[in-house]
Amino acid sequence: MEDRGFDLEGRLDALVEHDLKRSLAPADRVAERGYFASPSGGELPVLDSEEALVFASNNYLGLTADKRVQDAARQAGATVGTGAGASRLVTGDTLVHQDLERLLAETKGTDRALAFSSGYAANVGTITALEPDVIFSDERNHASIVDGCRLSGAETVVYDHCDAASLRAEMADRADRADGPGADGESWLIVTDTVFSMDGTVAPLESICDVAEEFGAWVMVDEAHATGLYADGGGIVQAEGLEDRVHVQLGTLSKALASQGGYVAGSDALVELLVNEARPFVFSTGLTPMAAAAASEALHLARHSDARERLWENVAHLRDGFESMGFEVPGESQILPIVVGDREDALALEAGIRDRNVIAPAIRPPTVPEGTCRIRVAPTAAHDRNDVVACLEAFQAAGTEVGLL
Ligand code: PMP
Repeated sequence: MEDRGFDLEGRLDALVEHDLKRSLAPADRVAERGYFASPSGGELPVLDSEEALVFASNNYLGLTADKRVQDAARQAGATVGTGAGASRLVTGDTLVHQDLERLLAETKGTDRALAFSSGYAANVGTITALEPDVIFSDERNHASIVDGCRLSGAETVVYDHCDAASLRAEMADRADRADGPGADGESWLIVTDTVFSMDGTVAPLESICDVAEEFGAWVMVDEAHATGLYADGGGIVQAEGLEDRVHVQLGTLSKALASQGGYVAGSDALVELLVNEARPFVFSTGLTPMAAAAASEALHLARHSDARERLWENVAHLRDGFESMGFEVPGESQILPIVVGDREDALALEAGIRDRNVIAPAIRPPTVPEGTCRIRVAPTAAHDRNDVVACLEAFQAAGTEVGLL
């Protein structure tokens, strides 16, 4: 098998040779600034305002309003500081960051993890730092992946959405091209979202790994909409047991983890490379300790509370309800796209549910392809059974009024 992977060790050795390599300090050498223990206790409050039920948030586990998460952020602000004050490589590193990274690595089953100031920065920073020759990218990947591909200057090949056969055909075509810049010695990167935020679809990750291994390429996944929601608080990689076959596990702290920021989890060499070469990491102020602490607490709760269970119960109840009304609900995740097709119908349905105090947005082109306008319904663990029933009733009444049912 051709090896089209990435020689990270070689690049790190070169940095050492030129006396350029930097490292984050080990935890016991990070300045002790009054680190705190995780608080516990407290109930999950309902998030919705009195006037309307919001079914449009990425706060999937309902943890942004959880007292334990709020207390963690508050305590970090009060004891470590409200801001990191500098890049992590200068003086911005704290035990709160390192604690978060340890918990992320443990959850993801990797050597290490690294926190970025956003998921956007994590995608752009990682793809550009890897310096791939060729990137194979799902046609519906998130804009931050698209921007990372553009900025990296790599040849980017777009394959059909969630289609491992299309990916394989593109890779075979690229491998066969005799007059290309020489596939030998190239590094190839496959990159895909795992859960797609507008479609609710889930990438066929095992088949993608099979194709990657056939061509010796690396696999990078963006678990922004999956992190915290699957097996033991992990994402699709954990749900499918693919930790050893996926090279880069990336995500955001801003959705189920109820905070702000991004992360990358992977091998020791990958994280060392990012510490040195991911420009949004090196040249940007470290994540605020408040965000890091909130994300740590939320990840702890994603793993050890019943929030995931409650979310998936709500998802199952809503999906059943929508389907028995006759709506088409594609995908297989917590995101429920109610596809109505026409732009006017989608806007009328959005207005109809809003009149009945349910908020969920109509998604139109260019975000989704023409003729597939939809209402994106995203329940959270903080919705109770009454909220779910009220949501379904609003859709039934509004759908009938608009003539869709
Ligand atoms: N990747 C995906 C798939 C996303 O949906 C988002 C945010 N919408 C991001 C990355 C960016 O994450 P952040 O908001 O933390 O910058």
